[in-house]
Amino acid sequence: SFQGIYTAFLDRAEQHPDKPAFELKDGRHITYHDLLTDAQRIAHLLTRAGVQPGDRVACQVKKSVRAVAAYLAVLQIGGIYLPLNTAYTGTELQYFLDDAEPTAVVVDPANAVAVRDMTSDVAIFTLDAQGSGTLSACETRLTTFAPATAEDPAAILYTSGTTGRSKGAVLTHGNLASNCHALLEAWEFTGEDRLIHALPIFHIHGLFVAINMSLAAGATMLWMDGFDVDGIVDRMSTATVLMGVPTFYTRMLASERLTRDAVQNMRLFVSGSAPLLTADFEVFYERTGHYILERYGMTETGMNTTNPYHGERRPGSVGQPLPGIEAIVADPKTGEEMPAGQIGSIEVRGPNVFDRYWRNPDKTREEKRDNGFFITGDQGYYDTDGYLHISGRSKDMIISGGYNVYPKEVEQLLDDHPLIAESAVIGIPHADLGESVVAVLVAANGQVPSDAELTGMLADQLARYKQPRAYRVITELPRNVMGKVQKAQLREEFADIFT
Ligand code: ATP
Ligand code: MG
Repeated sequence: SFQGIYTAFLDRAEQHPDKPAFELKDGRHITYHDLLTDAQRIAHLLTRAGVQPGDRVACQVKKSVRAVAAYLAVLQIGGIYLPLNTAYTGTELQYFLDDAEPTAVVVDPANAVAVRDMTSDVAIFTLDAQGSGTLSACETRLTTFAPATAEDPAAILYTSGTTGRSKGAVLTHGNLASNCHALLEAWEFTGEDRLIHALPIFHIHGLFVAINMSLAAGATMLWMDGFDVDGIVDRMSTATVLMGVPTFYTRMLASERLTRDAVQNMRLFVSGSAPLLTADFEVFYERTGHYILERYGMTETGMNTTNPYHGERRPGSVGQPLPGIEAIVADPKTGEEMPAGQIGSIEVRGPNVFDRYWRNPDKTREEKRDNGFFITGDQGYYDTDGYLHISGRSKDMIISGGYNVYPKEVEQLLDDHPLIAESAVIGIPHADLGESVVAVLVAANGQVPSDAELTGMLADQLARYKQPRAYRVITELPRNVMGKVQKAQLREEFADIFT
């Protein structure tokens, strides 16, 4: 019969109640038993507040162990967990609350009044970063649980809003469990592992990859409020795995404390949510002897592809489909699979693919083909060894003079220049060409090469239509908390270059 994330966790809590699920900064341990007890307590509170199976429980709280207990409590009672980015305020928050219509909301005490004004008929609980608030105010536990089927919705996660308004993706218990098991298998993650958890927990990476895997495997999380290099290095001596976004690795490489000695106990470094810089992949190997394992996923699907645990991890590639998942490169018009080497639309089918966009059947129909494939919105190609490479988002593709320009191809050549730390290639409106190519550069050591030098360098590497017509230098690419470059923001900033 179907085993969801909650029952997998429950099994672990029964098998080894005294094992730490979390080790905190101050040295305290939160055991599997502690976590289960707290989840059951919160389950009682939520039930008493009227939450029934299928009801949404929205949580916009700072990262804490009790926030994880709240997530488990919602799963326990068959509710739909809805985590919200802590950065959302005012009208943004209003949008999510109106859209999701939660039965209960858990917020930071500082926001309780504002949320009260935004909603009616909603039970409001408070929870701060230390775990205090009205969500801790009861001792009664609810020890029964609502058995979930694979088809029941478990969570609604809103996408990051990189390409437009955030969409609520309805994920089922089957989606979460299948993806968790595919990842456990692919990365050989077990109860022996000790995971450094420094990611936010309102996003698929920190919540469903990191937490689900740890709790289902019965592992221990070394819990951090957020990313800081020293905190990570301090924990590495007793940890085995780190899951990070690319900026974690860029920043770790800037520290002299990142050495072979420091990583002796580690077996795996994972990167995802945004493209890892090839230079970081290489320098990280030189410094530590570890090849960072890059994987590819998104809110609607969880993880789709990964570089191999055993075998070659290829820089610039996101590897191969996870067990049980199909990830193809298709002709965007017909959905037909394309041969290796050709860039097309990346499409995914499998038990990991979300059920639907919340209250948005039109969008669901647009993005899901009749044959079950989900159109990810990313473009890429398979190389002849079956490794998938991402060329960029469909919405970031540049059409210049009728020709397609894939930003990644140009960015990689620019990034190879020793004076360039990183780049973002974007399309800017152009009277003759429709769009023209602009490269936004970040200097590696204060000074980028001249436009003439770059033009010369690219002249024999790229067709004329792919070569940037203008270069701009900025100190830092705009990124969100998950390290995703905000190209829409760059397009806006440089919109007038050709006018
Ligand atoms: P929205 O869908 O609202 O525009 P979003 O796509 O950024 O926002 P997420 O679901 O958080 O929201 O992010 C998924 C996207 O992140 C993927 O579609 C892909 O573009 C990018 N991504 C994830 N992992 C990688 C990776 N390893 N390399 C390159 N891109 C990645
Ligand atoms: Mg998306």
